[in-house]
Order: sequence, then C-alpha cells, then structure tokens
Amino acid sequence: MEVILTVVFALFGSAIGSFLNVCIDRLPLGKSLLYPPSHCDACQHPLSPKDLIPVFSYLWLRRRCRYCQASIPRRPFWVEVGSGLLFAFIYWHYGLSVEFAVIAFYGSLFIVLGVIDLEHKLILNKIVYPAAAVALIIDVFLPPPGIFDAYLPWLLGIVNGVIGGAIGFVFLAITYLVSLRIYKQEGMGWGDVKMAALIGLVTGPLLVLFTLAMGAILGALVGVILLLLKIKKRKETIPFGPFLSLATMATLLWGSDILNWYLGLL
Ligand SMILES: [Zn+2]
Repeated sequence: MEVILTVVFALFGSAIGSFLNVCIDRLPLGKSLLYPPSHCDACQHPLSPKDLIPVFSYLWLRRRCRYCQASIPRRPFWVEVGSGLLFAFIYWHYGLSVEFAVIAFYGSLFIVLGVIDLEHKLILNKIVYPAAAVALIIDVFLPPPGIFDAYLPWLLGIVNGVIGGAIGFVFLAITYLVSLRIYKQEGMGWGDVKMAALIGLVTGPLLVLFTLAMGAILGALVGVILLLLKIKKRKETIPFGPFLSLATMATLLWGSDILNWYLGLL
C-alpha cells in the first residue's frame, strides 16, 4: 500500500511539475499562467491531452513535437522528473501530514525560483513577495525552529520566521555590498539578498545561515568544476539562486537532524 501511494505521489508531483514549467516559462515574460493553453513553441499548435502527460509524453514523443517535429527543450522533462521524485520522497519521509503539504509547497516554490534564476539570472519580486507573505502564514502553523521556542506561545512562530528573515537579509546584504566594493562587479544580485530573507522566513533563525553557507559552498564547488571543465570562463558569473534553492530544500528535508547534530556540538 505504501509503495502504491508513493508512486501516486510521484505522479502527482510530476503533474505539479508540468504546472511549474508553465510558471517558469511565463512568469519572467509577464504572460498569463492560464491563457493561452499549452502549445508548441515552434509551430504554435495547441497540445492535446496525450501530449501533456508529464514525463511520459516527452519519452513517448522522443523529444519531438508531434505536429512539426521540432525538438522539445529538455528542461520541462527534468522539472517534471525532479518534482515527481521530490513529492515521492517527501511522502515517504513524512507521510500525509502538514509537513508534507508545507515542504511540497516550498519545494515547488524553490524549483520555480531556482530554474528561472538559472535560465534568466533573475529572481522575480512577483514571486518572492507573495511567497514571503505565505511563509509568514505558514510560520504561524508550523513554526521554524528558533531560539526561544520553549518560552513562546505557538502564535509567535512568526517571530522566529521574522528573525530568520532579518538575519538572512542582513547577512547577504553585507556580503553583496562588500563583494561590490572588492570586485567592482555584481557577483550576486540584490535578488539573491531578497531570496535570502525569504529563506530565513522559511527556515528560521537557527538554520538560515547554515542554509546560506551550504548554498555558497555548493555554488563554489560547481563553479570550480565548470571552470576546470572549461564550460565557463573566469569572468562569467553563475547564478546563486539555484544553489540557494537546493540548500533550502536540503534544510527543509533534514533540518531537524542537522540542528540536533550541531546543537550537540555545543
Ligand atoms: Zn510544433
């Protein structure tokens, strides 16, 4: 039974993934999410339901549009696979619970933020601001771990979120201004600073810096590998958002384990 439900949530996640692709395609261009319905970018032919089955249509059609044979981009497929695996994993880890709903929501949000940043080097205010508002509401119901938890009534989970957001914002704002001073170019953007504040709202004061550090280390590692493989040149910047997204997902999934580990070190 558990196995069947895990597969069901994998399919559900990949269906959500195909909606996330619509968001990723259209939000940076300021287009409506609902209209027009999905169509081939090359020939504009509207797609029928059998062209829109997540993951499987792509494999079945062998990366070609059914109508004009133009090749279909790879990213939508990987977003569908990624969100399918993510949803299955969250279900397997948390069962059908409040945590499942919250982490699945944040996972979807950070996939959209990360992939848009990867493709456009943009972190959109129209995603970050509403997401921050939703994160504050979620903080009320599922408080992120904080410093004064034992003394705070549940409603003040919001305090943990706001402190976390402030820490994230201040920390990355300082890093941004210092790097602007030293390198005279924007290694990271002001969008990353706002994203750090959002991450603080989501992860709370105890985990926000850990998450930002993990994102920076991941980004640096990948940057070095891309340099060594000569895929990127030294002057080229790589966007920070995708790594922040991955780090945030890791914190959401394993944050309490990480916290127990490093509080155990004190
Ligand atoms: Zn086509």
